[in-house]
Amino acid sequence: MRKFSDLNKPRILITGAAGFLGSHLCDRFIREGYQVIAMDNLLTGSMRNIEHLFPNEDFSFYHHDVTRFVHVPGKLDFILHFASPASPIDYLKMPIQTLKVGSLGTHNLLGLAKEKNARILIASTSEVYGDPMVHPQKESYWGNVNPVGPRGVYDEAKRFMEAITMAYHNYHGLDTRIARIFNTYGPRMRLNDGRALPAFIGQALRGEDLTVFGDGSQTRSFCYVDDLVEGIYRLLLSEYPEPVNLGNPDEISIRDFAEEIIALTGTKQKVVYKPLPVDDPQQRQPDISLAKEKLNWQPKVNRQDGLRITYEWFRQLPESALHEL
Ligand code: UDP
Repeated sequence: MRKFSDLNKPRILITGAAGFLGSHLCDRFIREGYQVIAMDNLLTGSMRNIEHLFPNEDFSFYHHDVTRFVHVPGKLDFILHFASPASPIDYLKMPIQTLKVGSLGTHNLLGLAKEKNARILIASTSEVYGDPMVHPQKESYWGNVNPVGPRGVYDEAKRFMEAITMAYHNYHGLDTRIARIFNTYGPRMRLNDGRALPAFIGQALRGEDLTVFGDGSQTRSFCYVDDLVEGIYRLLLSEYPEPVNLGNPDEISIRDFAEEIIALTGTKQKVVYKPLPVDDPQQRQPDISLAKEKLNWQPKVNRQDGLRITYEWFRQLPESALHEL
């Protein structure tokens, strides 16, 4: 492993570092002058997302699975736990790994944080609200989750993750932060992970029809990745240990979203309807008043601009990437 240049810089461990969010967080913390220790088992992450950071002497990479004992030599000031399969297709394919990284992985990282006296922020999710009966979702809502449905492996792992994190906070006095992340998009999403945005853009680029599940009346609220990263950064440096919603409240139906992608890409294809996956939440929109109050944060990038940047990124991928699974 590479030696670090300056031991006085803050040192941060980022798990899931080769993934979509993790890699953007690596970029941000390197830019902020941190020493970044990136960790990933490459189950769903890709080295392509972080290889540009390897020449930087403040960046190092461990190929490691956090469900096994995690050791990092030297001091650690911060931990960001972002390792997990995170798309419905991924956690349907990898249900046990999804449960393990949210439970055993989180336990290992909390133990490491305690050992190093580091502050830890865990990536929770709007999925803790399940198919919500309250709209928009506030942090005080406890959710409507089916524990034994196909999404249960993800939703319940994340709920356990929050519970054990609060237990370490309350029992051990550990310095903890919990981000409830709503749908986020941007460059470096995997084209074929089954999520709506890369699915639609991939279909447009391949000249296929866009597959909307159900009647498309279900809603989501999409946040551009730079806004989300800013929210994570502020939450980490805040003094607020309770869960905080991070997302863009601009809500849209999936049918209208598909039409926006058709307009953006200029594809001549149309929308086709497929069966709705089991337990697909009908509506989702973050109430971000807490983040505004505690972090002075709100998203700045509107969907039109964010989608244009994201589409340009997908467009420059090699043709072969369009057909990768
Ligand atoms: N979706 C869709 N067509 C696709 C992929 C997804 O209509 O090809 C729908 C999906 O059923 C859900 C919404 O788009 O209602 C957002 O799905 P995504 O997987 O992006 O996120 P999540 O359901 O986890 O919020």
